[in-house]
Amino acid sequence: MRLSAFALLLLSPTAFRTSAQAQDAAAITQRARARLETLTSPEFHGRGYVNDGQRIASDWIAQEFQRIGLKPVKQDFFQPFQFNVNSFPDSVKASIDGRDLVPGVDFIVDPSSGKAEGRYEIVHITTRDLNGPERRKMTMGVLSGKAACVHWSTTTDADSLRMMRNWERDLMHYGPVLKHADKLTWGVSQEAMPQPLFEIVGDALTDSSQVLVLKVNNRLLVREPARNVLGMVKGKGKKWIIIGAHYDHLGRMGPDALFPGANDNASGTAMLLSLADHFAQKKNKPKHNLLFVAFAGEEAGLVGSEWCAVDRPIDFGAVRMMIDLDILGTGDDGITVVNATAEKQAFDQLVAINATKGYLKEVKARGPTCNSDHCPFVQRGIPGIFIYTLGGVAHYHDVRDRSETLPLTEFADLHALLRDFIIALK
Ligand SMILES: [Zn+2]
Repeated sequence: MRLSAFALLLLSPTAFRTSAQAQDAAAITQRARARLETLTSPEFHGRGYVNDGQRIASDWIAQEFQRIGLKPVKQDFFQPFQFNVNSFPDSVKASIDGRDLVPGVDFIVDPSSGKAEGRYEIVHITTRDLNGPERRKMTMGVLSGKAACVHWSTTTDADSLRMMRNWERDLMHYGPVLKHADKLTWGVSQEAMPQPLFEIVGDALTDSSQVLVLKVNNRLLVREPARNVLGMVKGKGKKWIIIGAHYDHLGRMGPDALFPGANDNASGTAMLLSLADHFAQKKNKPKHNLLFVAFAGEEAGLVGSEWCAVDRPIDFGAVRMMIDLDILGTGDDGITVVNATAEKQAFDQLVAINATKGYLKEVKARGPTCNSDHCPFVQRGIPGIFIYTLGGVAHYHDVRDRSETLPLTEFADLHALLRDFIIALK
């Protein structure tokens, strides 16, 4: 049997509430989608370090804060700081044996890559060629003026992986380095090596590849200005809850490869804004003061949250909880709460609310990990948790992490869970 919305309204108060809630949920997801599209649009340049991406994004977030009705903590919404960051404003080009590779699709350069241009003979080397000082010296002699293609043995051993990484960095002092990758996962580096390293997927790079033609023109930005964006809602009491999400992403690898960062972390930024939408309304005045922080510089190594934790824009002694939102675009399999073991009470409360309201499939606990913006706060004794969604698409730090393919499956349910949790927190 199907009933019209009007018929449902007549049935019972519960039905009325359910219908209104469904409308709310649809509106929340729709608004998040619009914000996601803005944050991931080419005009925001992947919210990185080419074409002013991060400045454009922080300006837009400050405008949103203003429109929503958040109040600045100081004279404006910005908390400025600086850090060094390597960037790739110019086209990054590579071809192997005459076949042109597509940036971001066939290859990436390591974020710490330096400059190089020209035609290089490829020398294939393995772990054996670098083991022991004499062998190593011989290999380095052979490599002079050539590109090294490294063939590491497959391992998951942390020590071996670290050693190979060190070798790669060593080789980046001598000439261009090539390696095969199963998946392209880009990042941000605060430093630049003398030469580039290429990671290549697919069949473009083989054991018998001979010639590399390349052009990489990096620019190390020294003391690049960056800004966290801070806005608050005054509550009824003295305590604070900090709600944080990083808005920065990887930016562009030249004009041809855009990393839109829809899931990471336009989704978390959209959640931050949607919670601000709710609590900035007079009728929803919260018990605790709320500080909303859109962090910069997360991908470069938690630089923005570190600065916020050092700069202390509010009295940290009064902070009840820091909630970090990073990667919230799916949720088919629920959420993970990082640092749940240390914040057992908060975790149990999330689980209890979720069980009562039936929002998400599962709320999973994970131990402490320094993998997002909660970490600098937790390290300074502030109770903090980091929440990310589980299931659905798994594009990560690549050109495919786009709004079009990000489902926002449980966005409205997670919004409701976070809202209820913020209200319930003692
Ligand atoms: Zn992230």
